[in-house]
Amino acid sequence: MPIYLDGHSTTPLAPEAMEAMAPWWHAQVGNPHSPHLSGMLASQAVETARAELASLIGSDPQELVFTSGATEANNIAIRGIALAALESGVGRRDIVVSAIEHKSVLSSARSLRSAGFRIIEAPVDVNGIVDISALERLVSTETLLVSVMAVNNEVGSIQPLDQVVRMARAAGALVHVDAAQGAGKLPLDLAEVDLASLSSHKMYGPMGIGALFISSAAPLRPLPVFFGGGQEAGIRPGTVPTPLVVGFGAAAKISRERLKADAAHSAGLSALFLEELRSRQVQFIENVSVPQRVSGSLSLRFPGNDAMSIIARAGDRISISEGSACTSGQITASHVLLEMGFTHHEAAETVRLYFSRYNTEPDATDAAVVLSEIVGR
Ligand code: PMP
Repeated sequence: MPIYLDGHSTTPLAPEAMEAMAPWWHAQVGNPHSPHLSGMLASQAVETARAELASLIGSDPQELVFTSGATEANNIAIRGIALAALESGVGRRDIVVSAIEHKSVLSSARSLRSAGFRIIEAPVDVNGIVDISALERLVSTETLLVSVMAVNNEVGSIQPLDQVVRMARAAGALVHVDAAQGAGKLPLDLAEVDLASLSSHKMYGPMGIGALFISSAAPLRPLPVFFGGGQEAGIRPGTVPTPLVVGFGAAAKISRERLKADAAHSAGLSALFLEELRSRQVQFIENVSVPQRVSGSLSLRFPGNDAMSIIARAGDRISISEGSACTSGQITASHVLLEMGFTHHEAAETVRLYFSRYNTEPDATDAAVVLSEIVGR
């Protein structure tokens, strides 16, 4: 198998999460909403997992709603809050988002234009950090919601959430954080935000499960965007998938326990990889420098080399992505890199790598050898 270095897209499942999930597929099967013993045991397992996730982000378990992932959580947060404003007579109609949000935030927000909302996109600097003074000018007493991600999924840039929260609060606006790439990687304290989206498969949990944090102190609660059996406080109806939730909970527990160790491990491997490239005199440019990016994440350009051709040539030896996996196959350049001021050409040269908890030192050195063979000196 190729060396897997695409943890921005999805991380490998933690063995502990796999083990925790196993019995819930067959031996201990039960719909957590059923009244019999099997159902009650499943329900208890779901609540244990909810508590694990809550302790990772410093929330109350009852403030978490399980969803199918961060895409759904982002949709409920943004569209649900807009619906709540329309229904409750709140007159604010501006939604301010950073210009480098994930498509599930940008598209959810833009979909609200037809309902009379104004979507304002705040610029970012060359390191992919939201421009706080521009944000300050854009947020006003017309602002319903400010949505800024914790960590960008393409370049790993860490956003100044404290300042975003302070500014939004001063204008009386709600704050949503897409924490899909931050939770489990950074010590996130979401106590001050109203809504936050989480994704299990970015923190070594299974795919297909995520959560929306809705603060009990939020002045407005999102309305549901789907209707059904009323599960998850009616915010996200549908049967809660016990095995996935249990795996997510186990992954959250390990991430909390290993937060510092994981960050040190990932930082060490990415530094080793870059060192190895340098020792082979490979020409490369880091798009985002160290203090601004999350440990283990690299956004690199090899001048004169198109990312797609590097990826194709590295195919059976290392798995890496171009600027954004979410736009894979499309010719359009990454909106994130363009917003950061890169040209289309520079964006097309950009590859991203992530050194995860399960990568090793030989992975880092071997990956550098492969890339040096492909791009030359
Ligand atoms: N937000 C960010 C920042 C992401 O990186 C992703 C996944 N690429 C998502 C949202 C969507 O998450 P999910 O796959 O859980 O729907």
